[in-house]
Amino acid sequence: AVRVRFAPSPTGFLHLGGLRTALYNYIFAKKHQGSFILRLEDTDQTRLVPGAAENIEDMLEWAGIPPDESPRRGGLAGPYLQSQRLALYAQATEALLRSGAAYPCFCSPQRLELLKKEALRNHQTPRYDNRCRNLSSVQVAQKLATDPKPAVRFRLEGETPAFQDLVYGWNRHEVASVEGDPVILKSDGFPTYHLACVVDDHHMGISHVLRGSEWLVSTSKHLLLYQALGWRPPHFAHLPLLLNRDGSKLSKRQGDIFLEHFAAAGFLPDALLDIITNCGSGFAENQMGRTLPELITQFDLTRITCHSALLDLEKLPEFNRLHLRRLVSEETQRRQLVGKLQALVEEVFGSQLQDRHVLDPAYVERIILLRQHHICRLQDLVSPVHSYLWTRPAVSRAQLGAISEKVDVIAERVLGLLEGSGTSLTQDVLNRELKKLSESLEGTKHSHMMKLLRVALSGQLQGPPVAEMMVSLGPKEVRERIQKVLS
Ligand code: GLU
Repeated sequence: AVRVRFAPSPTGFLHLGGLRTALYNYIFAKKHQGSFILRLEDTDQTRLVPGAAENIEDMLEWAGIPPDESPRRGGLAGPYLQSQRLALYAQATEALLRSGAAYPCFCSPQRLELLKKEALRNHQTPRYDNRCRNLSSVQVAQKLATDPKPAVRFRLEGETPAFQDLVYGWNRHEVASVEGDPVILKSDGFPTYHLACVVDDHHMGISHVLRGSEWLVSTSKHLLLYQALGWRPPHFAHLPLLLNRDGSKLSKRQGDIFLEHFAAAGFLPDALLDIITNCGSGFAENQMGRTLPELITQFDLTRITCHSALLDLEKLPEFNRLHLRRLVSEETQRRQLVGKLQALVEEVFGSQLQDRHVLDPAYVERIILLRQHHICRLQDLVSPVHSYLWTRPAVSRAQLGAISEKVDVIAERVLGLLEGSGTSLTQDVLNRELKKLSESLEGTKHSHMMKLLRVALSGQLQGPPVAEMMVSLGPKEVRERIQKVLS
């Protein structure tokens, strides 16, 4: 059975790069009727960020790709926090020590620091010199007497196995002659990443490891660990990095790549999933507007290329518009949007709502239907240009007088027009009637009359077409706003 995992360290909130790794895992799991597991790699206790663990799980749920097993949901392969699995790492370390594949290291932090400095001075990459590798059992026993909790290192030796990465093809990183023996268990009993990752992937029954390409070079080391532990390794598929359109690192230029930011700004999860899979990997062609079920059916691992994926966040509003319109067209989704917009209106205009009827579901729905092609996010409907929909504008007589001297005549004639037509006003009818009206008014330019109406209705010089504003507000509200002009 396919079992995949997303294994972030809770050292930061979930960002777009992490979401992309999680999404490919999710899609792969669903495509193969498998399980998607969230495992939090919290072994570096000094780098934990408060709230990050909750945020990662919250955001996966928000994005619509919840894990099947996770710290919060539990599962048979749990616990899903590495800090709660220390016994398993100790057990594996014991086995490696027993077989001689690992050894205790008594080097002091000072000595290691010195080694590092010396290497840097000679322009070399720092590496451990494997000093404790060949201690005799008598020496080990002696040292244990004064240092009963040494770190444990894994003996990197022998030929590094080659492996076929499902994305990058055949790979082999010569680690034995290049790197010093890595610490697998620290003296405080916590494992380092390499050991914890291998032990957990094994015990959690992970079948495929899909992770960022920055881990490609570590895989050889992991394979040596699998070998030494006598375990069968999973399949590996490394995913190319997600970069800005200009090739710069995602985190460097955009301050706001955290999911929380996009959620708060009113972007739809579907739009985010769509844009991060739209940059050239895993799908036939770059068509916009895919939904999650479509992503699952259309995904093809062999289509993932080795090139970095370039993300153009400037296109996000366009992606969002597309997905918003799709939601508007689906009745149950639309009802949810109505609820969201009601909440937004309440939040933004709450104290100024002189008339609660603007929160009527029917009114809110009409606004969404009328404006859907002109907005990218639902949030746009509470922007200043749209405030007239929710609150009455404060317009002075002088303001209107400056636009046209015929304020009263125009207002009365428009009221008459509304009176005659009842509730059956459409934009087309209104446009025609307003045109006729301005023609019948000697010396009044159509554009001036429309400007006057726009200001009277919205208090603004810009916004949607006047006839659309009138349809949005409805005859009763239009009448009241125009009557106010006369009073
Ligand atoms: N904890 C690692 C990370 O933060 C996980 C790497 C892996 O998936 O093996 O990316």
